[in-house]
Amino acid sequence: MIAVESFASKSVAVFGLGASGLAAARALVAGGARVAAWDDTPGRRAAAQEAGLDVVDLARADWSAFDALVLAPGVPLTHPAPHWSVEKARAQGIEVIGDIELFLRERRRRAPGAPFVAITGTNGKSTTTALIAHCLRVAGRDVAMGGNIGVPILDLDPPAPGRIHVVECSSYQIDLTPGLDPSVGVLLNITPDHLDRHGTLENYAAVKERLIAGSTTAVVGIDDALSAAVADRAERAGKRVLRLGVRHPVSHGVYAEGGALHVAEDGAQTRFMDLAGIASLRGAHNAQNAAAAVAVCRALGVGDAAIRKGLASFPGLAHRMETVARAGRVLFVNDSKATNAEAAERALTSFESIYWIAGGRAKSGGIASLAPHFSRIAKAYLIGEAAADFAATLEGHVATEQAGTLERAVAAAARDAAADPRGEPVVLLSPACASFDQFSDFEARGRAFAEAVARLAAPQDPQQDAPRPGASESDAQEAV
Ligand code: ADP
Repeated sequence: MIAVESFASKSVAVFGLGASGLAAARALVAGGARVAAWDDTPGRRAAAQEAGLDVVDLARADWSAFDALVLAPGVPLTHPAPHWSVEKARAQGIEVIGDIELFLRERRRRAPGAPFVAITGTNGKSTTTALIAHCLRVAGRDVAMGGNIGVPILDLDPPAPGRIHVVECSSYQIDLTPGLDPSVGVLLNITPDHLDRHGTLENYAAVKERLIAGSTTAVVGIDDALSAAVADRAERAGKRVLRLGVRHPVSHGVYAEGGALHVAEDGAQTRFMDLAGIASLRGAHNAQNAAAAVAVCRALGVGDAAIRKGLASFPGLAHRMETVARAGRVLFVNDSKATNAEAAERALTSFESIYWIAGGRAKSGGIASLAPHFSRIAKAYLIGEAAADFAATLEGHVATEQAGTLERAVAAAARDAAADPRGEPVVLLSPACASFDQFSDFEARGRAFAEAVARLAAPQDPQQDAPRPGASESDAQEAV
């Protein structure tokens, strides 16, 4: 934990007591602040009380006593309307900040020169953050990774000379971090998302741009126009900019071409590494994430051999095109994180001979946008509320089966994939839907998929005609 000493003897209101809010409240108390903590949910208030925090009803509190409001990133700061706690803080003229701002103030006090890598983007943040941290660890560096991924930032080891903090930043967190000044800032991409919370695309893009505007070295994807414009502006402002390109080569930075990464610097282009054999980095989207990792690690002085070793040994993140098993030639891939058609498209373009498990609670637009990829799908196994709608969209293009549940879908898809004579058939859970009709969240859905796959390999009751992949038990349980 990082004791936040910059608020010693001050009074701080903390609203929103999820993992990061609780960590912030504890870190402030550890640094000598008086903290009044509150959440609308009684269960969270109880957890805070158990953690020894002062739970104070902020709706009735005297705000003139507070020096700052620390807000959880899930609480609206601006859109659709500022939360009442924000209104109260503004009326009082006190600052509204988040846990990353608290971290940065400690960093400035304790180890201002320690590298701080901040990663944002609409998609790929978690993968890129984990990949950068992995490569740095493989290179023997002291790394603390967290933020919007895994551990709240104030629960990490404190800033120290030589320790590299690698931190995923959502746009909500950036909004709460006025002093955001990463040594290396990464912006992967900007596409419309979370507009309910940021009003317009321009506003959302402007929030993301702040991470780059504050950074010393900027690493920016240029495959979308908004991010490309951010890179140009950063360069005009005199920053060191490394560009990432998957669709176009770049003159200074890292780009992907022909399944390999290339480094461009000082007018020279060098082939850096083939990504083809790295299962955890399949697909063009992962080429962008890998390019970012190469640019960041090189900017931090890591040698190329160590970076290559890091990329090649990256285990990948759970629920994102995660290979959970292999049974003979058949791969079982958990892409439960793909909760909309755009995300599912990345998985569909990363494999051939796909036995596709899809469905759940549909997002607007359904799967019509995936039509160009239907030819890669050998058959679809449909589950959840969206099953009938998806069947109608696939009609005439892809054979479908109404599986209803994930368990039945896995069994049927495994049976058909095992009988497919072509190369490497893939049983792919990439639902293009939210999970809430059948599961608590996408992680529970991903775990259920992996468990159903593992059960396929369990010894079968000979009385039962239960399907199983055409491979030995040990094969099917092999985690790849
Ligand atoms: P985030 O943390 O930004 O939500 P993740 O790394 O968790 O991103 O990846 C979530 C999903 O986004 C992946 O399953 C994949 O479909 C897609 N994705 C990952 N990286 C990228 C990228 N660089 N560009 C576009 N989409 C991506």
